Amino acid sequence: MVATEPCPVCGSVDAHPVVSRRGFSYVRCSHCRAVYVSPMPLAEEVARIYQDLPYFAGNTEIGYGDYAAMHKALAPHFRRRLRRLAQVFPKRGRLLDVGCADGFFLELARADGWEVAGVEISEPIAEETARRLGVPVVTSIEKLPEGAVYDAVTLWEVVEHFREPVAELRRLAQRLRPEGVLMLSTPNAGHWQAVRAPELWTAYRPPAHLVLFTADSLHLALEKAGLREIHIWRTAPLPPLPAFLRRATMPLERSLADGSARPWMLARALWLAVRLLGWAWQRLTRPQEDIFATLEAMAWRPG
Ligand SMILES: [Zn+2]
Repeated sequence: MVATEPCPVCGSVDAHPVVSRRGFSYVRCSHCRAVYVSPMPLAEEVARIYQDLPYFAGNTEIGYGDYAAMHKALAPHFRRRLRRLAQVFPKRGRLLDVGCADGFFLELARADGWEVAGVEISEPIAEETARRLGVPVVTSIEKLPEGAVYDAVTLWEVVEHFREPVAELRRLAQRLRPEGVLMLSTPNAGHWQAVRAPELWTAYRPPAHLVLFTADSLHLALEKAGLREIHIWRTAPLPPLPAFLRRATMPLERSLADGSARPWMLARALWLAVRLLGWAWQRLTRPQEDIFATLEAMAWRPG
């Protein structure tokens, strides 16, 4: 099948339909396997949704239920990523977090010794974060001070929001000093749900999520952006569960994702046990499937 527009990662026009939601359709590129919204919404249309405060704290279908409550769910990931960055930069340096939202990662990074700055597309959130933390937060990459370069640029669950991810990543790569590192996380479009049960895959969330990557298509995008020594790894194992178990544990999964689970430690232990069961079941029934829900990557600007 021929897509209405070329793949935003590799440029191929050969794609097939995946799923439609709220009037938007996702297609999967037959060449690099990236999934993208086609036809792609206009830039103005995309920009509009982030100016709404409810996107961050109003329980909208496409945004965050309560970003502050999510801190609990995000903290272990943010700390793990900071440890990884610290291995590369034992002396830390200047860090730019793109899509910094309320600045939770900026706070943790600063406490870890980084000199931090943020980019946040939502004007009211950017202002509030800058004021609260006393750090520079601008509303677009173009508004960063001229000539400012960073040792590390981070994007947590952001690259999938870009209409033109390769161009945006290239712009960010140019903000890295030579041998600086870009690090990101994004939903894995190679996950078994994204491939085999797209109606279940919560990362198909238009028009917020516009381009979703597999490990290979993410590698290609980073390479085209001018980055090298690209390392991609997969996290957050989310194995397929028998239907009854999936239905029974859905509320638990949701409450852990948005940080509202009580009591927290017990809920996490229970979920871990469920996932271990699911893993064993998957190994027995469909061992070829990718069960990791998230991709993380590190890539270097050549020296
Ligand atoms: Zn492609």
